[in-house]
Amino acid sequence: MCCKLMHFPALTKPRHIWCPKYRKGAGCSIYPDRPDECVQFMCLYLQADELPDNWRPDKAKFMIWTGREANRLIIEVDPHHPLAWKQPAYYPQIKTWSDRRHPEPFEVTVRVGDRVTVVFPEADIDLGVDQGRPIESGYEVIAGAMLPYARFVPA
Ligand code: SF4
Repeated sequence: MCCKLMHFPALTKPRHIWCPKYRKGAGCSIYPDRPDECVQFMCLYLQADELPDNWRPDKAKFMIWTGREANRLIIEVDPHHPLAWKQPAYYPQIKTWSDRRHPEPFEVTVRVGDRVTVVFPEADIDLGVDQGRPIESGYEVIAGAMLPYARFVPA
């Protein structure tokens, strides 16, 4: 799935388009000589032994990675299956990961095409089309209540 969903500059391949080196049923046609970016990229499924088989990206129709910041989980969804992450087999676990009361909390973002959503246990905040700027998120007091917020950092 990373061969479709990710943009690797060395390949001049846009996101969401299968890499021209990928062969259906066979995988990477240049596997021994694939670029370093492909060698180094590891999605969460490859790193987390405890994730069951239905979380394998080609089955789940999304892929989870941590990006540059280890405290951010990015759920990159196949645009042809935009609601895959909301299926009962996955959504409750994604909500659990989004709980900021964990000792090492994650900011959980879901990307479907160019749209970005930040997930909290009590809300999914749709930020709309990615503005190419950092995201800040957390909780703030609004009208006396502690509520989740997420927004692009102003330019
Ligand atoms: S070069 Fe190979 S491993 Fe890298 S994205 Fe293309 S098919 Fe996937």
